Amino acid sequence: MTHEKATYLLDLSVGELEDLVQELGQKSFRARQIWRWLYVHLAGQFEDMTNLSVALRQKLAQHARCSALQALQEEVSADGQTRKVLLGLADGERIETVLMLYDERATVCVSTQVGCAIGCPFCATGQGGFRRDLSTGEIVEQVLYFARWLRDHGPAGLDRVGNVVFMGMGEPLANYEATWKAIETMHDPQGLNLGARRFTVSTAGLVPGILRLAEEDLPVNLAISLHAATDELRDQLVPVNRRYPLEELLRAVRAYLARTNRRVTFEYALIAGINTAITEAHRLADRLRGLLCHVNLIPLNPVPDSRWQPPPDHVVREWQLFLQRAHIPVSVRLERGTEIAAACGQLRGHSKAPKGKQSD
Ligand code: SAH
Ligand code: SF4
Repeated sequence: MTHEKATYLLDLSVGELEDLVQELGQKSFRARQIWRWLYVHLAGQFEDMTNLSVALRQKLAQHARCSALQALQEEVSADGQTRKVLLGLADGERIETVLMLYDERATVCVSTQVGCAIGCPFCATGQGGFRRDLSTGEIVEQVLYFARWLRDHGPAGLDRVGNVVFMGMGEPLANYEATWKAIETMHDPQGLNLGARRFTVSTAGLVPGILRLAEEDLPVNLAISLHAATDELRDQLVPVNRRYPLEELLRAVRAYLARTNRRVTFEYALIAGINTAITEAHRLADRLRGLLCHVNLIPLNPVPDSRWQPPPDHVVREWQLFLQRAHIPVSVRLERGTEIAAACGQLRGHSKAPKGKQSD
């Protein structure tokens, strides 16, 4: 089998696909036909590409593959609105992808790395350490997986992917090239055709990546995982803060805003007794006043074996009210799908113990 060495078509741009097709002795317009099969018809195998000759399909199958992910396990929340899949990669690594079906949009939450090097102590992915970056194709195929599911099983009005959020496992700006190329692939009007605003890149605060994102032509949404309003606390919760402290991070956000004029989201996970004192809310409001932004409060999703918990509801409400009064737009992320371990990295964590085998 040439399978392992085969070119993974989802890693390629249209131009690269044209080069490949020419190398196989074909006219370059075939590349656009293949592209349509992949991203419009959502074909997962060459046999489906019926307007290509049988000979070309066979040749492609010898040299290339259009799928590298395998669904290993799926979980559905009790209300059916959240689906989470554990996907196996060609080298045996595993990642998670989540589909959320509320707010009249189908949102796919993708992973960008196997594990994460940043090591936030409240995050299941961070606790597992870093394994490797995902390739462009491995990011795109997560979206194709749920695009196919929506086409075949999506509820009325929700038969296609609406939004893609980079909030699964890993730090997207630490895998910038593959992440951006995946966005360009999914944006292509002759393919999945997702507009720039359908994408949200979430970062722990990698300043060079934010500045680079500001220079891109496609104005995607930016979310910053803040979780603290002082360096002292943020150094503990989001360790990369030691490299890019708050002032520097906010300077990069201002540069991003100056360039894009797109409202930035600040994520604030509320962790009982750690970052929930109302004095922290005051500090947060002071930091954010005047910025074109929005705060998303996320009651912590408790990670197994961790002593950290979400605060009681009244604390969440108190924060919400305080920020509203300070004229900072605020929302609270509903804890949907907690029972299927919706916090990133947790399904992978579960399935590893004991000894990487599911008992069924
Ligand atoms: N690495 C990027 C994107 C992936 S994490 C980032 O940190 O932004 C996506 C979001 O989930 C981040 O805001 C992260 O802080 C949050 N998160 C991680 N673990 C969580 C948990 N246990 N409960 C609530 N939010 C969590
Ligand atoms: Fe990495 Fe984001 Fe988890 Fe922090 S919260 S460890 S940056 S995935």
